[in-house]
Amino acid sequence: MTDGGGTANHGSRGPLLLTPGPLTTSATVKQAMVRDWGSRDDGFIALTRSVRDTLTGLAGGRGTHTTVPLQGSGTFAVEAMLGTFVPPNGAVLVAANGQYGRRMAEICGRIGRTVMVDEVPFHRPLDADAIGRRLDADPAIGHVAVVHCETTTGILNPLEDIAAVVAQHGRRLLVDGMSAFGALPVDAAVVPFDALAASANKCLQGVPGLGFVICREAALSDAAGNAPSLSLDLHDQWRGFEANGQWRFTPPTQVLASLAQALQELANEGGPPGRLDRYRQSCAVLTDGMAALGFRPYLAPAVQAPIIVTFHMPGHPRFEFDRFYGGLKDRGFVIYPGKLTNEATFRVGCIGDVNADDMRAFLAAVTAVLTADGIDLRVGVR
Ligand SMILES: *Cc1c(COP(=O)(O)O)cnc(C)c1O
Repeated sequence: MTDGGGTANHGSRGPLLLTPGPLTTSATVKQAMVRDWGSRDDGFIALTRSVRDTLTGLAGGRGTHTTVPLQGSGTFAVEAMLGTFVPPNGAVLVAANGQYGRRMAEICGRIGRTVMVDEVPFHRPLDADAIGRRLDADPAIGHVAVVHCETTTGILNPLEDIAAVVAQHGRRLLVDGMSAFGALPVDAAVVPFDALAASANKCLQGVPGLGFVICREAALSDAAGNAPSLSLDLHDQWRGFEANGQWRFTPPTQVLASLAQALQELANEGGPPGRLDRYRQSCAVLTDGMAALGFRPYLAPAVQAPIIVTFHMPGHPRFEFDRFYGGLKDRGFVIYPGKLTNEATFRVGCIGDVNADDMRAFLAAVTAVLTADGIDLRVGVR
């Protein structure tokens, strides 16, 4: 991996992951993993308590909500949330505009919950009024599940409006906030939700291996015995923490320690508003620069969250995605294939420990890769 300039690895930073996670982490977050912790160690118990409390605070949930961390990737946390909060005889409406919404519906089916799926086209945000009409029409629906930022495309869903409608209808909201939490604002005092699932390795910029669910404590307390799974039972996991501060099963000790460091770095950056500012700047440099090179974004700017950007695959006869991907990887940048089934796209993430200067370096790499193959997307097909 060298481009002759010695920058392919970005010094000691390694390749930059412009992906939806795992993503680029700081050196200090990686360094926080070098020591061992016993799971019954007082220091580790205190660390767990402090991370839980900080996460609850980030969601504006102190006094009403509690955070239950869980071993595994983000999907484990989403599955635990759905299984714990939707009772065995309950019915859940999944409003979906991407693959992660569909995944929630698939989970509900697997665990035997009655699930209804209302899909909107993937380039359109979810419609709070349509959800309200659906709830009027179907009194059996007790829970609504939505994705905050649909990472499939990078679209931002109107979480505040949806939460208000669900609350007006006396139903409960479950949120997959995976790719938004830590950057896009969510305040439990204003946005009523029973549970919000996220993970260490997206906007919090920790390493992968740990998810968590921020739960309204009264709802969690009522959820005893709901979960169809032993290890994914958030109620029991919570009871374990409350009883002795310990994890029920082997904790991902190094991952938690690095998350504690990542949360400190989030605070140093000015919390979620500061982080969102940086992501916005990176996203603006990326989208402007790619447009200038002739790439077309999939989403309208008004609905694009500054998290991950989907681009149409260029129609240029010499453009081949595998060559493009490989050329960028050789220059130290990892991008991501698209997740749309009906359209050829690719994605570039704005989250992680990268900034606007890194995005400028990425654009220079894109330019170099295209130039090497004699491709100019601005002049179209000749
Ligand atoms: C990343 C992500 C997940 C979880 O994915 P894992 O691969 O299980 O970590 C869930 N929902 C959304 C919206 C995501 O972006």
